[in-house]
Amino acid sequence: MGISVAIDGPSGAGKSSLSRLAAKALDFIYIDTGALYRTVGIAASRAGMTTNSLEKMPQLLKKMQVQMFLNDKKEQVILLDGEDVSSQIRTPIAAMMGSAVSALPPVRAYLLDFQRNMAKSNNVIMDGRDIGTVVLPNADVKVFLTAAAEQRAKRRWLEHKEKGLDVKLEDVLAEVNQRDYNDTHRVIAPLKQADDAVLLDTTNLDFEASLEALLNIIKAKL
Ligand code: C5P
Repeated sequence: MGISVAIDGPSGAGKSSLSRLAAKALDFIYIDTGALYRTVGIAASRAGMTTNSLEKMPQLLKKMQVQMFLNDKKEQVILLDGEDVSSQIRTPIAAMMGSAVSALPPVRAYLLDFQRNMAKSNNVIMDGRDIGTVVLPNADVKVFLTAAAEQRAKRRWLEHKEKGLDVKLEDVLAEVNQRDYNDTHRVIAPLKQADDAVLLDTTNLDFEASLEALLNIIKAKL
Protein backbone atom coordinates (compact mmCIF):
# COMPACT_ATOMS: atom_id res chain seq x y z
CA MET A 1 0.00 0.00 0.00
CA GLY A 2 1.41 3.40 -0.99
CA ILE A 3 0.98 6.70 0.80
CA SER A 4 -2.33 8.31 -0.04
CA VAL A 5 -3.44 11.92 0.13
CA ALA A 6 -7.19 12.57 -0.30
CA ILE A 7 -8.29 15.99 -1.49
CA ASP A 8 -12.01 16.69 -1.57
CA GLY A 9 -14.06 19.81 -2.11
CA PRO A 10 -16.60 21.53 -4.36
CA SER A 11 -16.04 22.18 -8.05
CA GLY A 12 -13.74 25.03 -8.98
CA ALA A 13 -11.89 25.15 -5.66
CA GLY A 14 -8.63 24.52 -7.52
CA LYS A 15 -8.37 20.88 -6.50
CA SER A 16 -7.04 19.58 -9.82
CA SER A 17 -4.42 22.26 -10.51
CA LEU A 18 -3.20 22.30 -6.92
CA SER A 19 -3.20 18.51 -6.56
CA ARG A 20 -1.31 18.09 -9.83
CA LEU A 21 1.46 20.47 -8.73
CA ALA A 22 1.58 19.11 -5.19
CA ALA A 23 1.98 15.60 -6.64
CA LYS A 24 4.83 16.82 -8.82
CA ALA A 25 6.56 18.46 -5.87
CA LEU A 26 6.28 15.26 -3.79
CA ASP A 27 6.87 12.86 -6.70
CA PHE A 28 3.48 11.26 -6.17
CA ILE A 29 1.00 10.21 -8.84
CA TYR A 30 -1.98 12.51 -9.31
CA ILE A 31 -5.38 10.94 -9.89
CA ASP A 32 -8.31 13.14 -10.91
CA THR A 33 -11.43 11.12 -10.11
CA GLY A 34 -13.80 13.78 -11.48
CA ALA A 35 -12.43 12.85 -14.90
CA LEU A 36 -13.87 9.36 -14.46
CA TYR A 37 -17.37 10.69 -13.72
CA ARG A 38 -17.11 13.09 -16.64
CA THR A 39 -16.15 10.16 -18.89
CA VAL A 40 -19.20 8.18 -17.79
CA GLY A 41 -21.20 11.38 -18.37
CA ILE A 42 -19.95 11.64 -21.94
CA ALA A 43 -20.76 7.98 -22.53
CA ALA A 44 -24.32 8.61 -21.31
CA SER A 45 -24.65 11.65 -23.53
CA ARG A 46 -23.39 9.71 -26.56
CA ALA A 47 -25.95 7.03 -25.82
CA GLY A 48 -28.68 9.69 -26.10
CA MET A 49 -29.26 10.24 -22.38
CA THR A 50 -29.74 13.65 -20.74
CA THR A 51 -29.33 14.82 -17.14
CA ASN A 52 -32.93 13.83 -16.35
CA SER A 53 -33.24 10.69 -18.43
CA LEU A 54 -30.59 8.30 -17.19
CA GLU A 55 -32.70 5.17 -16.84
CA LYS A 56 -30.57 3.17 -19.27
CA MET A 57 -27.36 3.78 -17.32
CA PRO A 58 -27.10 0.28 -15.77
CA GLN A 59 -27.21 -1.33 -19.23
CA LEU A 60 -24.65 1.14 -20.56
CA LEU A 61 -22.24 0.41 -17.68
CA LYS A 62 -22.24 -3.24 -18.70
CA LYS A 63 -20.98 -2.50 -22.17
CA MET A 64 -18.88 0.65 -21.86
CA GLN A 65 -15.17 0.45 -21.13
CA VAL A 66 -13.21 3.07 -19.23
CA GLN A 67 -9.44 2.86 -19.01
CA MET A 68 -7.05 5.20 -17.30
CA PHE A 69 -3.28 5.25 -17.55
CA LEU A 70 -0.37 7.62 -17.09
CA ASN A 71 1.57 8.73 -20.15
CA ASP A 72 5.34 9.35 -20.33
CA LYS A 73 4.87 12.71 -18.62
CA LYS A 74 2.97 10.94 -15.81
CA GLU A 75 -0.22 12.68 -16.92
CA GLN A 76 -3.53 10.92 -16.69
CA VAL A 77 -5.04 9.75 -19.99
CA ILE A 78 -8.62 8.47 -20.14
CA LEU A 79 -9.98 6.16 -22.78
CA LEU A 80 -13.67 5.60 -23.39
CA ASP A 81 -14.17 2.48 -25.49
CA GLY A 82 -10.60 2.86 -26.68
CA GLU A 83 -10.91 6.54 -27.64
CA ASP A 84 -8.87 9.22 -25.83
CA VAL A 85 -11.47 11.59 -24.33
CA SER A 86 -9.06 13.53 -22.10
CA SER A 87 -9.93 16.88 -23.76
CA GLN A 88 -13.61 16.23 -24.42
CA ILE A 89 -14.30 15.68 -20.74
CA ARG A 90 -13.37 19.32 -20.03
CA THR A 91 -16.49 20.83 -21.64
CA PRO A 92 -19.41 22.26 -19.58
CA ILE A 93 -21.74 19.55 -20.91
CA ALA A 94 -19.36 16.82 -19.72
CA ALA A 95 -19.28 18.54 -16.30
CA MET A 96 -23.09 18.65 -16.06
CA MET A 97 -23.52 15.06 -17.26
CA GLY A 98 -20.70 13.91 -14.96
CA SER A 99 -22.44 15.51 -12.01
CA ALA A 100 -25.77 13.91 -12.97
CA VAL A 101 -24.42 10.37 -13.42
CA SER A 102 -22.39 10.65 -10.21
CA ALA A 103 -25.64 10.55 -8.20
CA LEU A 104 -26.43 7.05 -9.47
CA PRO A 105 -25.38 4.19 -7.14
CA PRO A 106 -24.41 1.80 -10.01
CA VAL A 107 -22.06 4.45 -11.41
CA ARG A 108 -20.38 5.03 -8.03
CA ALA A 109 -20.04 1.28 -7.48
CA TYR A 110 -18.57 0.87 -10.98
CA LEU A 111 -15.87 3.48 -10.27
CA LEU A 112 -15.10 2.58 -6.64
CA ASP A 113 -12.77 -0.39 -7.22
CA PHE A 114 -11.25 1.39 -10.16
CA GLN A 115 -10.17 4.25 -7.88
CA ARG A 116 -9.04 2.04 -5.00
CA ASN A 117 -6.90 -0.07 -7.30
CA MET A 118 -5.05 3.00 -8.53
CA ALA A 119 -4.11 3.85 -4.93
CA LYS A 120 -3.02 0.33 -4.03
CA SER A 121 0.49 0.24 -5.34
CA ASN A 122 1.31 3.92 -5.79
CA ASN A 123 1.91 7.01 -3.69
CA VAL A 124 -1.06 9.08 -4.79
CA ILE A 125 -2.77 12.39 -4.44
CA MET A 126 -6.35 11.67 -5.39
CA ASP A 127 -8.92 14.42 -5.71
CA GLY A 128 -12.70 14.23 -5.84
CA ARG A 129 -15.76 14.59 -3.62
CA ASP A 130 -15.74 11.42 -1.51
CA ILE A 131 -12.10 10.32 -1.46
CA GLY A 132 -11.53 10.92 2.28
CA THR A 133 -15.01 9.74 3.25
CA VAL A 134 -15.63 6.71 1.00
CA VAL A 135 -12.91 5.80 -1.49
CA LEU A 136 -9.85 6.01 0.80
CA PRO A 137 -11.20 6.35 4.36
CA ASN A 138 -7.74 5.40 5.70
CA ALA A 139 -5.84 7.97 3.65
CA ASP A 140 -2.68 9.24 5.34
CA VAL A 141 -3.66 12.86 4.73
CA LYS A 142 -7.12 14.33 4.09
CA VAL A 143 -7.71 17.87 2.94
CA PHE A 144 -11.03 19.61 2.31
CA LEU A 145 -10.28 22.33 -0.20
CA THR A 146 -12.89 25.01 -0.72
CA ALA A 147 -13.52 28.66 -1.68
CA ALA A 148 -16.58 30.93 -1.98
CA ALA A 149 -18.84 30.04 -4.95
CA GLU A 150 -18.35 33.43 -6.68
CA GLN A 151 -14.59 33.07 -6.50
CA ARG A 152 -14.71 29.51 -7.83
CA ALA A 153 -16.97 30.56 -10.72
CA LYS A 154 -14.62 33.40 -11.63
CA ARG A 155 -11.62 31.07 -11.71
CA ARG A 156 -13.42 28.52 -13.88
CA TRP A 157 -14.67 31.25 -16.22
CA LEU A 158 -11.08 32.50 -16.70
CA GLU A 159 -9.97 28.92 -17.44
CA HIS A 160 -12.69 28.58 -20.11
CA LYS A 161 -11.71 31.94 -21.60
CA GLU A 162 -8.05 30.94 -21.80
CA LYS A 163 -9.10 27.83 -23.72
CA GLY A 164 -11.07 30.03 -26.14
CA LEU A 165 -14.48 28.89 -24.86
CA ASP A 166 -17.03 31.69 -25.03
CA VAL A 167 -19.09 31.42 -21.83
CA LYS A 168 -20.78 33.98 -19.60
CA LEU A 169 -19.64 34.40 -15.99
CA GLU A 170 -23.26 34.25 -14.79
CA ASP A 171 -23.73 30.91 -16.57
CA VAL A 172 -20.59 29.52 -14.95
CA LEU A 173 -21.79 30.69 -11.53
CA ALA A 174 -25.17 29.04 -12.14
CA GLU A 175 -23.36 25.83 -13.12
CA VAL A 176 -21.17 25.97 -9.99
CA ASN A 177 -24.23 26.50 -7.77
CA GLN A 178 -26.13 23.70 -9.48
CA ARG A 179 -23.23 21.29 -9.11
CA ASP A 180 -22.69 22.29 -5.46
CA TYR A 181 -26.34 21.53 -4.85
CA ASN A 182 -26.18 18.18 -6.69
CA ASP A 183 -22.95 17.17 -4.97
CA THR A 184 -24.06 18.00 -1.43
CA HIS A 185 -27.65 16.75 -1.71
CA ARG A 186 -27.23 13.37 -3.33
CA VAL A 187 -28.11 10.43 -1.10
CA ILE A 188 -25.05 8.36 -1.86
CA ALA A 189 -21.53 9.64 -1.07
CA PRO A 190 -22.50 13.33 -0.82
CA LEU A 191 -19.77 15.95 -0.73
CA LYS A 192 -18.85 16.61 2.87
CA GLN A 193 -15.73 17.22 4.88
CA ALA A 194 -14.37 14.08 6.54
CA ASP A 195 -14.11 14.44 10.33
CA ASP A 196 -10.35 14.03 10.16
CA ALA A 197 -9.78 16.30 7.12
CA VAL A 198 -7.92 19.59 7.34
CA LEU A 199 -9.93 22.52 5.94
CA LEU A 200 -8.18 24.74 3.40
CA ASP A 201 -10.22 27.77 2.24
CA THR A 202 -8.57 29.48 -0.74
CA THR A 203 -11.09 32.32 -1.25
CA ASN A 204 -8.50 34.93 -0.34
CA LEU A 205 -5.38 33.06 -1.40
CA ASP A 206 -3.77 33.28 -4.82
CA PHE A 207 -2.58 30.12 -6.53
CA GLU A 208 0.98 30.19 -5.17
CA ALA A 209 -0.18 30.77 -1.60
CA SER A 210 -2.79 27.98 -1.94
CA LEU A 211 -0.14 25.54 -3.17
CA GLU A 212 2.20 26.45 -0.35
CA ALA A 213 -0.59 25.99 2.20
CA LEU A 214 -1.53 22.61 0.70
CA LEU A 215 2.06 21.35 0.69
CA ASN A 216 2.51 22.50 4.28
CA ILE A 217 -0.57 20.54 5.37
CA ILE A 218 0.62 17.40 3.57
CA LYS A 219 4.21 17.63 4.80
CA ALA A 220 3.10 18.20 8.39
CA LYS A 221 1.13 14.93 8.30
CA LEU A 222 3.65 12.68 6.55
O1 C5P B 1 -14.13 17.42 -10.19
P1 C5P B 1 -14.96 17.51 -11.43
O2 C5P B 1 -15.67 18.80 -11.57
O3 C5P B 1 -14.19 17.15 -12.66
O4 C5P B 1 -16.07 16.36 -11.26
C1 C5P B 1 -17.14 16.19 -12.16
C2 C5P B 1 -18.36 15.69 -11.39
O5 C5P B 1 -18.12 14.36 -10.91
C3 C5P B 1 -18.67 16.51 -10.15
O6 C5P B 1 -19.69 17.44 -10.35
C4 C5P B 1 -19.10 15.51 -9.12
O7 C5P B 1 -20.48 15.46 -9.05
C5 C5P B 1 -18.62 14.18 -9.62
N1 C5P B 1 -17.62 13.59 -8.76
C6 C5P B 1 -18.03 12.77 -7.74
N2 C5P B 1 -17.12 12.11 -6.96
C7 C5P B 1 -15.81 12.28 -7.18
C8 C5P B 1 -15.36 13.14 -8.20
C9 C5P B 1 -16.30 13.80 -8.97
O8 C5P B 1 -19.22 12.61 -7.53
N3 C5P B 1 -14.94 11.61 -6.43
